[in-house]
Amino acid sequence: MTIVFHFITTVDYEVFGCGGGSPKACVVDPTQRALAVCQRFGAPMTIFVDTAEFLAMGRSGDTPAAAAANVVERQLVDATNSGHDLQLHLHPQWIGARLTEKGWQVDLGRYRTADLPPSEMVEIIDDGLSWLGRLRRQGGAVADVTAFRAGGWCIQPSATLVETLVRAGIRIDSSVAPGIWNATQLDWYDFRASPAPRSHWPVNGDVTRPADQGTFMEVPISVGRFAWSKRITGIIRQKTAGPAFPDGCIGTYGSMHSRRERLTSRLSKLLTARWAMLDYCRLNESDLMSVVDQRKVWARSEGVRNVPIVAIGHSKDFTRRAEAALSALLESLAQCGDVRFSTYGSWLSAYETEQ
Ligand SMILES: [Zn+2]
Repeated sequence: MTIVFHFITTVDYEVFGCGGGSPKACVVDPTQRALAVCQRFGAPMTIFVDTAEFLAMGRSGDTPAAAAANVVERQLVDATNSGHDLQLHLHPQWIGARLTEKGWQVDLGRYRTADLPPSEMVEIIDDGLSWLGRLRRQGGAVADVTAFRAGGWCIQPSATLVETLVRAGIRIDSSVAPGIWNATQLDWYDFRASPAPRSHWPVNGDVTRPADQGTFMEVPISVGRFAWSKRITGIIRQKTAGPAFPDGCIGTYGSMHSRRERLTSRLSKLLTARWAMLDYCRLNESDLMSVVDQRKVWARSEGVRNVPIVAIGHSKDFTRRAEAALSALLESLAQCGDVRFSTYGSWLSAYETEQ
């Protein structure tokens, strides 16, 4: 039996969660470099666009933020034209965000998509889909938006959100990172119960528990399991080797949390640190390939024919080091006869044909 590994390269396209960071330096410029890397190897980039923030910027009147939203639109249309893929990502703290003299004031009380009141959930998804749909059509894409990723991985409890996504025509969620846990109140997620080896499963309500059958699929972010020592040295190396953000991008991840929440977050992440996402902004080339190899070993033992492997990165983390890691990863994968650079839509068609 021939196994095809559908390698789906994704990038979360957004500024920082607290509203900080320049759209040019933290989103547009690094994404342009990431697209150029993908282009070199003939790999489509799946861009998870946080539609909520760019719609808020676009509505901000005669401001630099509104001008930036226009640049974003142009980049997304051009990317679609070049064969890349726009999918839906949402950070609902941008609902009702206000632009002040100090910058954007977002509503952290609305951080978790899964906790939104149902009417707001429907509205933010519909608004995002109609904007992304327009950009996709302008860029010549024929298919509708297929996939969703929750902002900050906050997809749980997922029953209402999944139901809303299904009604909106979405077929795939790609928020789960099996094994990983963040125990804060503001932005918690807990994927410890999800079946780490599996590359995809049908969902009926809870995205972490495979259903027997169904048409809505979880296609998780690929994870690998490492020895503690390797992970700890990897994390230290990542935190100490060079700038944390791309050229000119200034921001911080920690400012949303109190000191106590920061500590809780670090502890829970440390407890599950043996699991690492296939994140080209965080892992080096050999660890990235190790995650891919772990996925291949599992697939061969299970006899799955079309196996999605999902890599993640963030525009605001796409440093020169990340650029080199992504480039080396795609170069290695391009030499693997069993790997196809793919999208969620292409994988879904292959999967449905196989059923
Ligand atoms: Zn995000």
